[in-house]
Amino acid sequence: MKNNFTHLMIHCSATPEGMWFDRTDIERWHLQERGWSKVGYSGLFLLDGTLDLLIPFDRDDSISSWEISNGARGWNGRSRHICYIGGLAKNGRTTKDTRTVEQLVALENFVKMHTMLWPKVKLIGHNQVNATKDCPSFDVSQWAQSIGIPSSLIDSNIYYNEKTI
Ligand SMILES: [Zn+2]
Repeated sequence: MKNNFTHLMIHCSATPEGMWFDRTDIERWHLQERGWSKVGYSGLFLLDGTLDLLIPFDRDDSISSWEISNGARGWNGRSRHICYIGGLAKNGRTTKDTRTVEQLVALENFVKMHTMLWPKVKLIGHNQVNATKDCPSFDVSQWAQSIGIPSSLIDSNIYYNEKTI
């Protein structure tokens, strides 16, 4: 099955600032503890800026079933999800944009390359589709604008009240 690919959704791992987590942690949390069939993200940005590809993807304009990541219910068939490690202050509770310099650079490069390769896919944050989430702990629209992403590729809508789009 193939779905039209419309959004690149940004997440955080909701883990404390400065604490190292990687693919083995995400796989344990999502697959073993939550029992999901697939992890929540295609790409994971580690504290040192490394991009760990958890689920591969191809170059076309659709999301095939093998490309799906379980980042946000109702959105997975049409979205690619990426995540940075962090998003909480050191106390493990308070929402905080904890992106390291390396993560900021890696995310910016990825998002810019992504918008070149998929010029119709819009950027969005998890908190724009789920009112109970602070994820990814920063304003995606504002950040995207600040790094020069054209506004036509930034989705600043809030979709809380829509069952599905
Ligand atoms: Zn999220």
